[in-house]
Amino acid sequence: MKLKIGRMLGLVMAFTMLISSVSSAAGNFYTVKSGDVLWKIAKKNNTTWQKLAEINNLKNPHLIYPNQKIKLTDEGQKTVSKETDKEVKKEIAEVVIKNANIYTENTAQPKAEALAIKEGKITFVGSNVDVEKYVGDTTTVKDLNGKTIIPSLMDSHTHPGMVGASAGNAALAKYQLPRTSKEDMYEYLKMVAKENPDAPFLMIGQWSNKLYGVEGPDRKYIDEIFPKTAVLLLDSSGHSYWLNTAAMEAFGIDENTPDLKEGLSFFVKDENGRKTGWVKEFALMPYMQNAPVDEEVVSKGTLIYLNFLSKLGVSTILDCGNFTTEKGVYEVLSKLDKEGKLPVRYEATHHLFMPDQLDNAVETVLEYRKTYGGNMLKFNTIKIHFDGVMEINTAAVLDDFANESGNKGGMLFSKEQIKDLLLEGAPYGIGVHLHSVGDRAVRTALDAMEEAIAEYGGPLPNKLTLSHLEVVDPEDMKRFKELGVIANFTPHWFGGTVFQGADVALGEERYSHHQPAQSLWDAGALVTFSSDTVSMPGMPRSNPYMGIQMGITRQEPADGKDTYIHGQVSDRLTIEEMIQGYTINNAIQLGIEKETGSLEVGKSADLIVLPKDIFSMDAYDIYELEPDEVYFMGKAVK
Ligand SMILES: [Zn+2]
Repeated sequence: MKLKIGRMLGLVMAFTMLISSVSSAAGNFYTVKSGDVLWKIAKKNNTTWQKLAEINNLKNPHLIYPNQKIKLTDEGQKTVSKETDKEVKKEIAEVVIKNANIYTENTAQPKAEALAIKEGKITFVGSNVDVEKYVGDTTTVKDLNGKTIIPSLMDSHTHPGMVGASAGNAALAKYQLPRTSKEDMYEYLKMVAKENPDAPFLMIGQWSNKLYGVEGPDRKYIDEIFPKTAVLLLDSSGHSYWLNTAAMEAFGIDENTPDLKEGLSFFVKDENGRKTGWVKEFALMPYMQNAPVDEEVVSKGTLIYLNFLSKLGVSTILDCGNFTTEKGVYEVLSKLDKEGKLPVRYEATHHLFMPDQLDNAVETVLEYRKTYGGNMLKFNTIKIHFDGVMEINTAAVLDDFANESGNKGGMLFSKEQIKDLLLEGAPYGIGVHLHSVGDRAVRTALDAMEEAIAEYGGPLPNKLTLSHLEVVDPEDMKRFKELGVIANFTPHWFGGTVFQGADVALGEERYSHHQPAQSLWDAGALVTFSSDTVSMPGMPRSNPYMGIQMGITRQEPADGKDTYIHGQVSDRLTIEEMIQGYTINNAIQLGIEKETGSLEVGKSADLIVLPKDIFSMDAYDIYELEPDEVYFMGKAVK
């Protein structure tokens, strides 16, 4: 019910915006306002969106932007639209780069020798001869001697807020459970108990899911070691907890406490119906206080991470969620943005992991835009933990888990709920980004998009991105292109070493097609890349050059060439695909492809100077690449 009211409110607001902006349409042009979509403008003016797209020469009719002028009738007048921004200004540049081996990621002009930069933007891309027109007395001219330039890279699914917060978790990092055997672990826990006799609460990582199998652990094994201290043990998947009885009491959880979502977020019970203390996914979240954010720790830690990325040539990131610390993190980031300290474009999300968060999800994003939005910090996406993971059999799969018959995992929301959310976000350009690991989660999301398109009467202006994609049914692969759904992968997982247990959960056949990146690319999907980094110790693996290499090899870089290749050899991607996925495709996912993502006149001067030609060098050396220079919005940041 609440959802319906929310959606109606959204439509009313969009309608009001549309009405109020009609008066500003002058002559045969209409000026786009925030929240507009082309088909509505068309309807209002008794035409079709296809006609408007045609006479305005819109490459992608679903991407219109505020203040854009849309021609309403075709009477031979000069098309305004974006041409004005793109007008080549033959003006003296601040920086001219020449004698370079430039890969532009612009299909109309894939290679170039030189480019010019003024006021943060690219004003020329072309030959060494033609760039001379932009050189004046004040121009800095850089002769690169044949060095390679590529557009800046992006990370379209990571967690800088969590990385920042983890910098303060010294206590958590102090104890690391051995994963050799259960007995070794209990001995270690006895030592921890002895060192902390009066601690009211301890959080310790990480026990091995593999050691405990499908039945999982039980609080009875640790109650004797910790009779009074409340203990929460983190698992190796990062997706479940093991509580002792004292911790269950401290959280107020008893045998009557309900589960959050069947098959996904719940309290595991033994054969007698007693809660074992093993808690899957986010079932504990409603009982956790909104975690306070240590402003200094988060601000310092986040900047360490973002500056690390920036110096590697990452221009833009998508923060895919901060759980209960969300508001605190965005408050810190908004301050940093106002102080001009954010070294990258920061696309932020509103993170859903509990069923009741759905009711006011769109309103929350609109509120975040107003409260925290700024120069670099933007809010255009709702992130949903849609299903779970393979390691603890919570991912939503079409066929039962190989090690647990009768279990197909679970999903946070239904197909109808995802469809409604897509439609509700459409007028505001609020996209949906799903954690979708299993093939049933993927199919449900695709079905939701298909129904949303049917109800909307055409392609949606907002995006649906499916992330992780460990298993995708072959039948569903071509649907990504048909429905315009984006496929996001984390290539540094392609070595198969990061998550243990997917092999047992999926069985041999399904596991042999794990993370089918090239298969999806071949099926026409727009494929994008990211690092999904959640903690400071994980930071080195967020290096995009590691991702690029592993996308090509599907092997761990440290193991060399003659080692295990993960999944299908035919799912190895090419260097061309890796660069496209990390640049222009990521820009499309984030809806900023008019601003950046390729080296074209009018776009932001975001580029990387590399010491070697990444397209022709040995792929096994890519992870060691370090840029010679990095430009962000025309300024050298390295
Ligand atoms: Zn993530």
